[in-house]
Parts: sequence; structure tokens; C-alpha cells
Amino acid sequence: MHCPFCTAKETKVIDSRLVGEGYQVRRRRECIECHERFTTFEGAELVMPRVIKQDGSREPFNEDKLLNGLHRALEKRPVSTEQIEEVIHKIKSELRATGEREVSSHFIGELIMEALKRLDKVAYVRFASVYRSFEDIKEFGEEIAKLGEH
Ligand SMILES: [Zn+2]
Repeated sequence: MHCPFCTAKETKVIDSRLVGEGYQVRRRRECIECHERFTTFEGAELVMPRVIKQDGSREPFNEDKLLNGLHRALEKRPVSTEQIEEVIHKIKSELRATGEREVSSHFIGELIMEALKRLDKVAYVRFASVYRSFEDIKEFGEEIAKLGEH
């Protein structure tokens, strides 16, 4: 990186160590031109990506919306608050893990469906029926048929 003192293009790393319980790297650098020293920190970017809605507009990720959607699908189902929290935690981790700055609401919907599929089949079908509408009616029918088998 450029030297913040003289803006020379070349700086060298003179020391590098893990800090913040190993989640950050602290580097001491020295400018090759002016020999000033400075410190940089490097860590993973763990911000939540923004959400691209279907109309193309963007909005910040909203955990309450996610929670409301799950509550609606899981109404009167034998699923604990703890399990719901786990699902939210998992979805947020998956979103961060994409490393993307923006993800589509469609992608989030798919993550929710995957999670509900494993958690509670009835909630899954409820969510899918609202979310997918008539997009994939064949697969949806197959899911309902599977419910009858259990
Ligand atoms: Zn310099």
C-alpha cells in the first residue's frame, strides 16, 4: 500500500503478527522512500450484504423481517425459539460467507427454504407456497406428496 506520509508507492512489511484472537493480522510497515513507519490491520469483512429486492432497489439486511417470516411459517409448529435463533444465526453466517456486498432477496429466500426443509416440513411448505407462488408448482406438488408419506 501507499505510504500515508509521502504517498510513495512502495512500503515494506517489517513485522507481522496475529492479533484479536487470531482474527486479525497486524503489520508494521516502513516506507522505502521516507522511512516513516505505520501499522495496518487486516481482517475478514464480516458485514452483512445489502439486499437487492425484486424491483431492483436495495435495502439493508433486516433481521426482524427474517424473524417475522420464520414466525409466520412456524406458527403453531413444535419448534423452539432456540431452534429459530439457530436458523437465523445460520442464515446470517451463510450470507456473510458469500463475501458479496449485495445478495438478492431471492437468494435469501432459498436459504430460508433450505433451513425450513430440514427443520419442519409443514413450515417449509407454508413458506414455499407464499414465497415461490406459482414459480415452481411441480416441485411444490412433489413436496406436498412427500408430506403425506410421513
Ligand atoms: Zn513515505
